[in-house]
Amino acid sequence: MVTLFTKIINKEIPADIVYEDDDVVAFKDIAPVAPVHVLVVPKKEIPTINDITDEDALLIGKIYKVIGKLAKDFGIDKDGYRVVSNCNENAGQTVFHIHFHLIGGEKLGTMV
Ligand code: 5GP
Repeated sequence: MVTLFTKIINKEIPADIVYEDDDVVAFKDIAPVAPVHVLVVPKKEIPTINDITDEDALLIGKIYKVIGKLAKDFGIDKDGYRVVSNCNENAGQTVFHIHFHLIGGEKLGTMV
């Protein structure tokens, strides 16, 4: 199923893209929950974390490398930040194309 994020990746829907390479795109969340709220998304359509396979291992590693770079770019690496990935209904996943919320820029409440 083509999701909203594939449309953003294909530039069919505008987004504030802050990073892009052959495999990964990152853009600002439309409804930020903190001063920095970026969604880091693989270009490959993987609906949920449950669908990640062995062949995606490098891609997922790369995503975390991009997250670290973006945290540095946004100046939140030293103070700290949170990475969240929701899976399915109980976690509140609304877009079924895996993505990693990079959230920071302020003191975050304890979650777990
Ligand atoms: P989820 O709830 O699936 O973990 O996260 C989906 C995220 O996508 C939400 O934080 C929501 O605000 C964001 N979002 C939904 N529609 C759009 C959009 O059209 N553009 C952007 N940039 N973010 C969106």
